[in-house]
Amino acid sequence: MTTNENATPVNFIRHIIDNDLKIGKNQGQVVTRFPPEPNGYLHIGHAKSICLNFGIAAAYNGTCNLRFDDTNPEKESDEYVQAIMRDVEWLGFQWHELRHASDYFEQLYDYAVQLIKDGKAYVDSSTPEQMRANRGSLTEPGKASPDRERSIADNLDLFTRMRAGEFADGQYVLRAKIDMASPNMNMRDPTIYRIRRVHHQRTGDNWCLYPMYDYTHCISDALEGITHSICTLEFEDHRPLYDWVLDELQTPRHPQQIEFARLQLEYTIVSKRKLNQLVMEKHVNGWDDPRMPTIAGLRRAGVTPAAIRDFCERIGLTKQNSWIEMGVLEYCIREDLNENALRAMAVLQPLRVVIDNYPDDQTELLEVSNHPQKPELGKRQIPFAKTILIEQDDFAEVPPPKYKRLVEGGEVRLRGSYVIRCNEIIKDSAGNIIELRCSYDPDTLGKNPEGRKVKGVIHWVSEAHAQAAEVRLYNRLFTVPNPDNEENFLTVVNPNSLEILQGCRVEPSLSGAAIESRYQFERTGYFCVDKDSTAELMVFNRTVTLRDNWVKD
Ligand code: ATP
Ligand code: MG
Repeated sequence: MTTNENATPVNFIRHIIDNDLKIGKNQGQVVTRFPPEPNGYLHIGHAKSICLNFGIAAAYNGTCNLRFDDTNPEKESDEYVQAIMRDVEWLGFQWHELRHASDYFEQLYDYAVQLIKDGKAYVDSSTPEQMRANRGSLTEPGKASPDRERSIADNLDLFTRMRAGEFADGQYVLRAKIDMASPNMNMRDPTIYRIRRVHHQRTGDNWCLYPMYDYTHCISDALEGITHSICTLEFEDHRPLYDWVLDELQTPRHPQQIEFARLQLEYTIVSKRKLNQLVMEKHVNGWDDPRMPTIAGLRRAGVTPAAIRDFCERIGLTKQNSWIEMGVLEYCIREDLNENALRAMAVLQPLRVVIDNYPDDQTELLEVSNHPQKPELGKRQIPFAKTILIEQDDFAEVPPPKYKRLVEGGEVRLRGSYVIRCNEIIKDSAGNIIELRCSYDPDTLGKNPEGRKVKGVIHWVSEAHAQAAEVRLYNRLFTVPNPDNEENFLTVVNPNSLEILQGCRVEPSLSGAAIESRYQFERTGYFCVDKDSTAELMVFNRTVTLRDNWVKD
């Protein structure tokens, strides 16, 4: 994979727009929208749609609205509205106007009245069971409801009374009068209004009558002057209905619906409904759990907006549904963090090393660079003293072949510091190694030792100066690449998706680092400061390992 920041991604949607501009359609304007339903937090799939809609608007000097598709009040909440706005902004996009489908409830109602007057909609008293039975199948036409021929006057009267709250929930619906024999099931007189007494997070109890998605979406697009209404492939079969509504109503504008393949990412789930289930049933610790594929989860894990945008660009745009490997996302995350994260030393599983020939109460401040490839990011000082901590697995009593780290009687370089030699292993009564007695060569700071080669370099922290930390290691949330294929996706949740390491120590320069600060812990991976951090105990989340070491088993 190569990065070409300046290349304009060419995709089939851009071809459509280029052509529209060439023939002077829409007075040369490009207006898009991102239309989430506020029934959960945004996920990585939404990021694709956000990058696409806002990206296209920006590329053509157009505008993009954020519109809440809030027509299902029972599942929606202001918490979700706030989270969605926060996530879109964090991703780096600014909407032109903030809209809500509920802004249009009055206009939508008037349009429905117009449809009734034109003989294009009718009030139906069929029960849901009758409707289902009369819908027909792919091979059989549907059957008309007895109410289909109700007079316009009666329809108007009933619809007015539906709004006035005279009927029970579900007693009547309003249906578009299209074609019960259409080969497209969506055109077999779809329901466009239903009675539902639910409190709406914006309109309160003003309405007991709510418009359906298909009816609402096209009119909202038209009212906002959207030129290109970009949505996912499952709406392809709804496009004739989209066009029918706008044609019948002769709205001043008629946006063009264009479909693309939704993002599906291996080892995770992109469905708000299922993610909600993971949260509610406590398989994860909230919507922003770093294991979640939500924008908030990725953010808390330490992923940057730039990495997500880069990912969305790389995966491209198609009309074919396909699965993207998690490795592609991780690649983008690593590329970005390798470039931008400051380096630091952290010992996740400490082993004490006492340097016997180092003065007891001496501390030296050693200068190390914040980023080896970027001198402009400066240097910092880290304290070195007699007792230091190294990683347990940077020492081996019985070294495997080609082991370059510390062994008894062997030497290793401490990153940014001296070469030490291990002279003795101290064990507890159970035989566990609890300490190494070492010596250092004072003549090896910033230079190689005389007459001998030291191959290994390991990281370390000074025991007395180090900051205590808890480190949370995350693994894939599911054990199979496609959890959606399971009968119950909850049965393939990875029981080992979170591993918590306590007793970790990080270099003192990290004390008090701001939440969301990102670091490369040398030789270990990329980590980010979690909001659970306190002055005494910092908490770090692993964003991603240094290399792709995922083993399929
Ligand atoms: P979910 O099932 O997760 O709720 P949705 O499509 O119902 O998904 P919406 O809030 O209605 O979610 O989506 C807002 C916009 O984001 C829509 O235009 C939708 O097509 C797009 N979108 C949702 N999921 C994906 C995805 N996986 N890939 C690309 N675009 C997506
Ligand atoms: Mg939806």
